[in-house]
Amino acid sequence: MTAENHATLEQFMNGVKKSNPGQVEFHQAVQEVAEDIFDFIQDKKEYHEYQILRRMTEPDRVISFRVCWEDDNGNIRVQRGWRVQNNNSIGPYKGGLRFHADVNESVLKFLAFEQTFKNSLTGLAIGGGKGGSNFNPKGKSDHEVMRFCQSFMTELYRHVGADVDVPAGDIGVGAREIGYMFGQYKRITNQFTGVLTGKGLEFGGSLIRTEATGYGAVYMLQQMLTRVGKTIEGLTAVISGSGNVATHAAEKVVHLGGKVVTLSDSGGFIHDPDGITQEKIDWVKHHKTHRRGRISAYADEFPSAKFYPNQRPWGINCDIALPCATQNELNGDEARLLVKNGCIAVSEGANMPTNLEGVHVFKEAQILYAPGKAANAGGVAVSALEMSQNSSRLSWSEDQLQKLLLDTMTGIHDRCVAYGGAAGTNHIDYVRGANIAGFKKVADAMLAYGVV
Ligand code: NDP
Repeated sequence: MTAENHATLEQFMNGVKKSNPGQVEFHQAVQEVAEDIFDFIQDKKEYHEYQILRRMTEPDRVISFRVCWEDDNGNIRVQRGWRVQNNNSIGPYKGGLRFHADVNESVLKFLAFEQTFKNSLTGLAIGGGKGGSNFNPKGKSDHEVMRFCQSFMTELYRHVGADVDVPAGDIGVGAREIGYMFGQYKRITNQFTGVLTGKGLEFGGSLIRTEATGYGAVYMLQQMLTRVGKTIEGLTAVISGSGNVATHAAEKVVHLGGKVVTLSDSGGFIHDPDGITQEKIDWVKHHKTHRRGRISAYADEFPSAKFYPNQRPWGINCDIALPCATQNELNGDEARLLVKNGCIAVSEGANMPTNLEGVHVFKEAQILYAPGKAANAGGVAVSALEMSQNSSRLSWSEDQLQKLLLDTMTGIHDRCVAYGGAAGTNHIDYVRGANIAGFKKVADAMLAYGVV
């Protein structure tokens, strides 16, 4: 076996760009990881010889397919579906399905790549995958969504399975969509297995799955603060998004005595200087999930708030920030503004919400900064617990699961600390810690398999 020609980071990234033309989100995700891994593997010959990082950036497979469905007016609609199976070295592929108009192969490849590191970081036996469609659920009737989900699963079913690949929800895919897809899988295969997570409690779902990502992101924040002798109590939080992750992150901040002052969606953000209380969060959950409404209506319902159309919340003064909407929703200038306004900690509920420049700003300012692959891993961790409950045909109690979630987030925090520290300083680079800890477990499994 010949040693890899120790390419520079730039040469490596040029290769990634050449093999994946135009896939800018994927390039960005790989670059962020490679910046740390290149340094870590510098003196580790075996990772070079076996071209581990290069192999990790080439998904095991990318499946794409046509999804046809009929809308309520009888028109035939054509969408594209994907499943990116990135890496199953440490367990079956696992990762959500996203239904959003902006979904494309680049977005799903970045998400599947990130998912591989995230799932490894949880310490559980799950590999990385991601999928979805450019179907836009906004404004569609329940029956239209059902027909789309059934058509999507009619193709996807042949590529997934309880020990093969176990999808879950993500943007645009919640309990309703999972129910329709699980029903179709069961109909086609005549099997009742844990092929999807995020299911309803009546048919194999797990308690606290819905809350897990948002709660987990706040547990991560709490652990980072505790390490430096601080707590969430009395701190002001700026949160973006108003979906599953954002509302549950807000809920946990409020439980822990913090004050949440913003939420957002793709139409803009609301600022409520009086604080978004549990009662107001319950209103948002109902408004977004059941009425499928817009966050702007919050300012009509609660006069203490103001709606800022087409703007993001990062200019509002805060101590802590939780980006919980989507990728690249926080740029370098916004990161600088947060730091300048005194923000001491950022925990990412969303995947890759901060662009590369913003990541560098947070790193250089040495604030407490937990990247999505560490901070939002609580959701997939509870999904893995749902898989365990399904295969043993048991349901665990809420108390058990809450404890497991907290233990998992503590484990993730501690793994980041183990790999993200530097001699002579108390500061932890959580991005570096998460990248290296996530990489190492997968890389070592790949070494054990030889060249496959
Ligand atoms: P939801 O669909 O429940 O909510 C998404 C939220 O983000 C909505 O408020 C939505 O607003 C907003 N949003 C979506 N796209 C944009 C955009 N282009 N600009 C501004 N706002 C936008 O999704 P989740 O809460 O489940 O997911 C949010 C993030 O968390 C994603 O990055 C996802 O990958 C990540 N994540 C989710 C997990 C989960 O368990 N659900 C697990 C781990 C990570 P609008 O209504 O206007 O579209």
